[in-house]
Amino acid sequence: MSDPIDLAAIRVDQLDRVRDLHRPVPGQGYLPDGGYGDIAPSCSSCGTPGEYAVPWPCPTIRVVDGKDDQ
Ligand SMILES: [Zn+2]
Repeated sequence: MSDPIDLAAIRVDQLDRVRDLHRPVPGQGYLPDGGYGDIAPSCSSCGTPGEYAVPWPCPTIRVVDGKDDQ
């Protein structure tokens, strides 16, 4: 049986890896007003940062940080 403290450490490490994948980068995409332009910061993994950027923090990071409002 695993030690619960080790499981907590593994979980923190996994969340850090998720944050590494979903980090803020400059990007371009469609703006809330329907125009097209810079979205900074945008997520490095969600969408396509150079074309269809997703604003950062993206839904994944909001869940990781416990700020998901759904
Ligand atoms: Zn993301």
